[in-house]
Amino acid sequence: EEHLVIMDETAIRRALTRIAHEIVEKNKGIDNCVLIGIRTRGIYLARRIADRIQDIEGKPVEVRELDITSYRDDRKTLVDASVELAAVIGDLNGESFSAHDKKVILCDDVLFTGRTIRAAMDALMDCGRPQSIQLAVLVDRGHRELPIRPDYVGKNVPTSKQEQIDVSLTEIDLKDQVMIIHQ
Ligand code: 5GP
Ligand code: MG
Repeated sequence: EEHLVIMDETAIRRALTRIAHEIVEKNKGIDNCVLIGIRTRGIYLARRIADRIQDIEGKPVEVRELDITSYRDDRKTLVDASVELAAVIGDLNGESFSAHDKKVILCDDVLFTGRTIRAAMDALMDCGRPQSIQLAVLVDRGHRELPIRPDYVGKNVPTSKQEQIDVSLTEIDLKDQVMIIHQ
């Protein structure tokens, strides 16, 4: 096994700061924007980006969480996933969530086939009609199986299918680091 560090703490910090600026620029502010972090590490990335947006714009941006574990279309457990997903999205603080007229920015750590994002978009569509859906990822490792592309990318990392991206975030992994692992 080979390990290669491709982003250290500084690189991750700079990438997230850049993405925060890009989000503010593309949306001409953050009115009606909501960041939705995808389990597990996407949630921490969404919170960090939101913190930076608050620094830039001087006002808070809404952050939500979405857990799509076991709801992907290529797993057997997909049973009326959209209904369950909608419930998960509305779970935060017991408040219901309406995507109606919102600019939704999905946040995840790694983008691979695109199936996770497809499932997340399915869930969103059951929460009303968003004005737009955008995608921010820390790493795009390629190998898409669906017509999905990110709007904001920390780092493009062309990988082989034998390689894996290892993402560590201080909130749960005690350090900030992205490695490429070759088996
Ligand atoms: P996809 O659904 O696009 O195939 O995969 C993306 C989802 O699976 C993301 O939620 C991401 O966390 C996880 N994932 C896919 N490939 C990798 C990888 O190489 N490294 C890590 N850390 N997560 C991955
Ligand atoms: Mg994930």
